[in-house]
Amino acid sequence: MRRALIAGNWKMNGSREANRELLDGIKAGIGEVSGSDLAVCPPFVYIPEVAEQLAGTPVKWGAQNVSHESSGAFTGEVAPAMVREFGCVYVIIGHSERRTLYGETDEEVAKKFVAARAAGLTPIVCVGETLEEREQDVTEDVVGRQMDAVIAAEGAAALAGAVIAYEPVWAIGTGRTATPEQAQAVHAFIRQRVAAKDANVAEGLQILYGGSMKPENAAELMAKPDIDGGLIGGASLKADQFLAIAKAA
Ligand code: PEP
Repeated sequence: MRRALIAGNWKMNGSREANRELLDGIKAGIGEVSGSDLAVCPPFVYIPEVAEQLAGTPVKWGAQNVSHESSGAFTGEVAPAMVREFGCVYVIIGHSERRTLYGETDEEVAKKFVAARAAGLTPIVCVGETLEEREQDVTEDVVGRQMDAVIAAEGAAALAGAVIAYEPVWAIGTGRTATPEQAQAVHAFIRQRVAAKDANVAEGLQILYGGSMKPENAAELMAKPDIDGGLIGGASLKADQFLAIAKAA
């Protein structure tokens, strides 16, 4: 039985004051969440403060990105070991905003996956198709290619220490959610892709759904057999919504 994970991607949002309020709200309600693990991924600069505020609670934290390099002349980059030093458990890798706005390729995502694992982080690898790709009926080609790049990096066994997030690009921040059936079909496809290499790893792999998940649609999405939680953007910025999604798992 896979345990659900609800991870909040704060993106480039927050302030010291707003973060404290949000975390206070999450901490106040966490006692009512039993069916899922929780994590938040703030912008880099807030990680030390978030770590202090969440220490001793069941809520874990992570980064939204890391470099695939470990140190050196890479101005503006942050190494995996640096965020690990501040207690990050997770790191989001290959979010569609990184792929589309910053040109991250499958190859780059695979390198980050390897570097994150080497530093002891659990990568949350994002995959997903654009609206155009869905309409062209190439969703499985795109997601298959994105998965294969990660599987090829270190073999399927490496996914035993990782999480996949299926995030249809057309559903991110748009208010338009994949139907539970659409999401389940791709989640099952992802699991099969891994199972073709390693059935045990595939069975244990947490595959999260991301894309306008909110309290109103979370339960029916997570009721599907291959949907093991959510990567939450907008709704992770409100404690009551984030907790309501966690309770729906
Ligand atoms: C995301 O950015 O990972 C995401 C799923 O965003 P939203 O929930 O706002 O669609």
